[in-house]
Amino acid sequence: MKVLGIETSCDETGVAVYDTDAGLRAHALYSQIALHAEYGGVVPELASRDHVRKLLPLIRQTLAEAGLATGDLDGVAYTAGPGLVGALLVGAGVARALAWALEVPAIGVHHMEGHLLAPLLENDPQGRPEPPFVALLVSGGHTQLVHVEAIGRYRLLGETLDDAAGEAFDKTAKLMGLPYPGGPQLAALAERSDKLPGHPGAFRFSRPMTDRPGLDFSFSGLKTQVLLAWRNSDQSDETRADIARGFEDAVVETLAIKCGRALDAAGCGTLVVAGGVGANKRLRVRLEEMARERGGRVSFPRPEFCTDNGAMIAFAGALRLQAGQHDDASVRVAPRWDMAALQPVQSAEA
Ligand code: ATP
Ligand code: MG
Ligand code: FE
Repeated sequence: MKVLGIETSCDETGVAVYDTDAGLRAHALYSQIALHAEYGGVVPELASRDHVRKLLPLIRQTLAEAGLATGDLDGVAYTAGPGLVGALLVGAGVARALAWALEVPAIGVHHMEGHLLAPLLENDPQGRPEPPFVALLVSGGHTQLVHVEAIGRYRLLGETLDDAAGEAFDKTAKLMGLPYPGGPQLAALAERSDKLPGHPGAFRFSRPMTDRPGLDFSFSGLKTQVLLAWRNSDQSDETRADIARGFEDAVVETLAIKCGRALDAAGCGTLVVAGGVGANKRLRVRLEEMARERGGRVSFPRPEFCTDNGAMIAFAGALRLQAGQHDDASVRVAPRWDMAALQPVQSAEA
């Protein structure tokens, strides 16, 4: 089954074709970062309009790369939420129209289920992680620990009470004067401080909410600690890198501690990590170390599939379409949508 996936929930237009026999056939991404940079954040109306401009050319490009015609498609999957309502409507409208014209089923995919399943998309030699497992979702808008009992059956174990991990990276970068979007740049600076011996540890920030039981997170206080440290410093490039390192270490260690607790709580050995912060190199190394110590395993998407992309939507949609699920022909999106409300995916054979 060949499924076209369309992602337009925020500021990335993502398109891909996932083939349930041959795996990922092609994928393309257009990022609107440059469009929003002068405003220091995503402007919803500009985002919607740009999706309108980019989506059809990107679909043509992806199909050409896959060597497929529209008539070869067996289904269409699109992000139906959560996200910006106008941006979501562009993807949903195009997906619905295409599916109607081609007389194939279409399905609205939950964006966070897309992220969550991205590590399963790769057919690596060790094979896919199989539920039950624990998922750490660390993106720009979410920080959640989820017990994945089955594909589509998600139980929230803990989440952030304020800023998401990616949001904390972005805001912390901004307050130290890094250009939008600062998260990846802050991470790059933190890496640089490695080359200056002695500097990791120059700044130590707290590991929020790790001193008490529970699986919730809070990252906004960390941002304030960085602000104070930065204001009271010489504000040199070296200091910025040292503070970036101190901040990254605090976030990584906090996430690692809570992931260990979540695995214990769920009685699972396997951790799956997804969302933009999952691209963070030190987080990947630290979680691998933690999993090894516990005799378990951790699985990540390739870094480019940690942030928003069409491949994860094509894949998540393909699993559901293959199980016989699809939505009716109306164009419906859900800017807010609880993952726990999703239907489990039962394979057609089961
Ligand atoms: P959501 O999926 O919750 O709706 P989103 O789609 O905006 O949010 P993603 O695209 O998954 O989020 O991830 C973007 C976030 O990931 C940004 O906040 C960015 O700063 C962060 N990020 C990307 N790369 C890195 C990195 N190497 N280290 C830390 N953070 C990173
Ligand atoms: Mg984005
Ligand atoms: Fe996302």
